[in-house]
Amino acid sequence: MFARKVSERVYLLDTYAFGSAGVVGAYLIKGPKPALVDCGYASSYKNVLAGLAEVGVMPTDVKYVVPTHVHLDHAGAAGRLLKEMPNAQVIAHERSVKHLVDPTRLLESVTQVFGEALASLYGAPEPIPAERITAVGEEMSLDLGGGLTATIIHTPGHAPHQISMILDGTGTMLTADAVGVVYPWLKVMLPTTPPPSFNPTEMIASLRTLRQTTPVELLVPHFGVQEDTEWYFDNTEERMTDWVEKVRKMSKKGMTLDAISEVLEKEVTLEAGLQDLEIYAKVLIKTSVMGIMRYLEKSQGS
Ligand SMILES: [Zn+2]
Repeated sequence: MFARKVSERVYLLDTYAFGSAGVVGAYLIKGPKPALVDCGYASSYKNVLAGLAEVGVMPTDVKYVVPTHVHLDHAGAAGRLLKEMPNAQVIAHERSVKHLVDPTRLLESVTQVFGEALASLYGAPEPIPAERITAVGEEMSLDLGGGLTATIIHTPGHAPHQISMILDGTGTMLTADAVGVVYPWLKVMLPTTPPPSFNPTEMIASLRTLRQTTPVELLVPHFGVQEDTEWYFDNTEERMTDWVEKVRKMSKKGMTLDAISEVLEKEVTLEAGLQDLEIYAKVLIKTSVMGIMRYLEKSQGS
């Protein structure tokens, strides 16, 4: 099963990243102007199409494709999907446009951070023609048809080019990676603070902006519908702050990326009461440590 109905017009599409359920989600807002929010990795685009088919939306019906930021688990499949969606316009933050039009540098930096093997598992994003992209600044309203509108807001922190979406008057918020990651099997929240541009101050400011809209449910890409919104916002801030402090202390002692990641991995494993973690959770932890170390280096330099 690729699609699950989560509210009257919204479906959660599981992209089955690396063949695993519950890792990378996308959302489809059905109606007169269907919108696909996030796309998954390039390597899993067929699973997104399978999800659309289950919901009964033809790719040619899709009106908007909204990659919430350019990271490959969100935008990787966008270029490939757009070929099947001739009537869709891409809605993305203005700072992401250059990467969507020409993903060469993005792919280079992904390969540098994750290595060849992982990068090829993710798949290479295809370029998107500039005329198919509508750039969002700080805020934008989107008409989804049938009386439903969405407010898109800039939510930097996880990445400078991130946007989140609120379905007006419904209390439903599509958070993107403005909140932490909770895998269904893990339950413990993992901060998502990746390189090259994680910024804790911006992350906290974005959380405040999102909280002010008093959502009743969060549609989280990693992973699923979350109704305990306060818990989510509180934990995102607390755990992120905690990890920044821990990484700061450990790197001051001269510990390496691998050593720090191992300490945090052990902590999470213990807290969850597990013996071991799935490989993609370990990759996420290491990526987050890397992003924090990068942030600390940059902020020392300034
Ligand atoms: Zn993500």
